[in-house]
This record gives sequence, C-alpha cells and structure tokens, in this order.
Amino acid sequence: MFRKLMMIGMLAVFLSTTTYAFSEDVFVTQRGSKYHKAECLSVKDRDVTKMEKKEAIKEGYGPCKRCFEEDVVVNQEKKDQEQVKK
Ligand SMILES: [Zn+2]
Repeated sequence: MFRKLMMIGMLAVFLSTTTYAFSEDVFVTQRGSKYHKAECLSVKDRDVTKMEKKEAIKEGYGPCKRCFEEDVVVNQEKKDQEQVKK
C-alpha cells in the first residue's frame, strides 16, 4: 500500500515538472543575447519579446546570469562534460 502511494506521488511530481518545463515563457530584449524572467531588472520597463524558453534557446539566446542563475550553472556543467569527452 505504501509503495503504491509512493509511485503515485513520484508520478505526480514528474508530470508537474515536465509540464512546467514545456510551458515556461521567457523574455528577450531586442539587442540582448540573453533570455530573462519577467521580474528581472534587465527587462523591466523595456521593449521585450515574449517567447517560449526552448524557442529562445533555439534562437541562440543564453540564460541571464541574474535571473536564470540555475540555467547558467546547468549549461556550464554541460560544457565541462563535453570538454571531458574530447
Ligand atoms: Zn535577467
């Protein structure tokens, strides 16, 4: 019984995180090369374009150091892993 509840709980967490990742919107400035969260100071009171995060990444935008610190770290780890392979 307990194991079944654990499974359901894990599945719910998994589903909610994937949904969040796929629907996340970010904001880019016209001249900038970074994507931002709506509350970031870098995009406040500026002419910004809203797009999906995966779209921004595809367009070549990188994570803002100020508001997407978690993504900066993830990207850095990926780069480190790539360098190890080579
Ligand atoms: Zn930002």
